[in-house]
Amino acid sequence: MKIKNVINKIKCFYYAKIAPLTNGNEYLVNCPCCDWRGGKFLPSGKRNNVLCPNCGSFERHRLYYLYLKNVLPSDIKIKILHFAPEKVITRLFKSYTNAEYLSVDIDPGVAMMQADITNLPFNNNSFDVIFCSHVLEHIIDDNKALIELFRVLKSGCFAIIQVPIKDEFNGKKINLTFEDFSITSPEGREKFFGQSDHVRVCGRDYSDRFKAAGFQVEINKFIENYTV
Ligand SMILES: [Zn+2]
Repeated sequence: MKIKNVINKIKCFYYAKIAPLTNGNEYLVNCPCCDWRGGKFLPSGKRNNVLCPNCGSFERHRLYYLYLKNVLPSDIKIKILHFAPEKVITRLFKSYTNAEYLSVDIDPGVAMMQADITNLPFNNNSFDVIFCSHVLEHIIDDNKALIELFRVLKSGCFAIIQVPIKDEFNGKKINLTFEDFSITSPEGREKFFGQSDHVRVCGRDYSDRFKAAGFQVEINKFIENYTV
């Protein structure tokens, strides 16, 4: 294990278990995924107050957790397909005894099944719920992936498909999704897309690709319940 990972684990342990005992019970934040309470979440990169030291969730995971608890039915049989499974979300899905749950990932050993999102080994209309977060910004042929997601989703059911959307990048306004497939090196991708394994910077037009694949897109304001 790398020394940096060991230091991170010690830091998380301290903030999760020790710090709350000494902060005078001043609980300013509460993680809905694991019920950890503390003064604030840990920083990550340049962002402050984002990472739960107890379960490793970021803001987006905490939002999904709350949203999914709000929309997942518990009284009818459902089939869930989860891409690149996040531990806290897996735990939530598995807590639904009415759900048949399957996780997939392109890399072996990460999920219950290895599968390519652009060529899924499932019949049409197979799943009631699809959850796919922070995946498509890594996929060159994202249109093919979206067509596959639409194909395996049952008619009238829903998919939560999330990508990071940027209004600004490297000091420039992002009006349209930016991609350049001639940029293939990790350094180039870091420089132009913000992460060494991203293949584009998604703008607010990105939902047009969902529509082109057949989806009806809903802009959900659920987050406004939790912002001040
Ligand atoms: Zn947590």
